[in-house]
Amino acid sequence: MAPPQYVCLSLGVMLSITGRAAVPEPGPSPAPVSDPLRSVISSTERAALARAVEQAMEFRDSYDRLPHHGHEWAEMLAQEEWGTLRHRIYPHIGHGPANRRWVSLTFDDGPDPAVTPKVLDALRAAGVKATFFLVGRKAERYPDLVRRIVAEGHALGNHSYDHLYLTRIPPESARVELDACSKIIQAITGHPPRYYRPPGGHFDRILVGIGQQLHMLLVTWTFSPGDYADPPPISLLEHALRGLRPGALLIWHDDVPETAQIVPEFIREAKARGYRFVPLSEYEKS
Ligand SMILES: [Zn+2]
Repeated sequence: MAPPQYVCLSLGVMLSITGRAAVPEPGPSPAPVSDPLRSVISSTERAALARAVEQAMEFRDSYDRLPHHGHEWAEMLAQEEWGTLRHRIYPHIGHGPANRRWVSLTFDDGPDPAVTPKVLDALRAAGVKATFFLVGRKAERYPDLVRRIVAEGHALGNHSYDHLYLTRIPPESARVELDACSKIIQAITGHPPRYYRPPGGHFDRILVGIGQQLHMLLVTWTFSPGDYADPPPISLLEHALRGLRPGALLIWHDDVPETAQIVPEFIREAKARGYRFVPLSEYEKS
């Protein structure tokens, strides 16, 4: 597979263009979907979700066939879109107050039966509340993990049902992807998610509109430690600490084993530097 390519944005965000998140992930586990959840998404919606996955794979195939200058062109368009959106006023959370030593942690791509419990253990031991952006298909398979996340005081966000790049499929499919994830979360917890983060951070004005129609608030980030690339734990910790600054909003992945190893040390070091860990709701108020 070609190495991931990145677009470096003026927000300090690295977006993976062809990396991990671009590829629809296969079923995470043979664990069956629990019966009470099976009917939450209708057969029509499931057919639409399957079509969305096909569309994402078709996009990936055609993207992979592009010559190098075609990739550059696509990245330029993505940067233009970000530039345009940054100058529009749209509701979102991208950082906290710049004058407070606050940091908010978010975890994407779970729940994962091997890693999420370890991350939850670490957060509980440190007394830190975070936000978990769930992949709907995984939430459907591991509803007990979702309940544990909520029971331990963390917030939930929508990270689409199949973890597709939502700007690369038709708007109606992107809507189905977000809506299905919200339905699963609501069925498990009794509440629809307040936040959403599109996979890979890929959004455009159409997707922002869909999120608003679904009554969710877009969440981006200030810094990605890059755990998804599976770096050695020591360099992951060093890199993550570089993202510490007042109002930081960090994006981790709770399906990466190294993340569970690093988070306790990261929290200890951040606290030693005078940082306080706050939930996203604090950033929303500020
Ligand atoms: Zn993701």
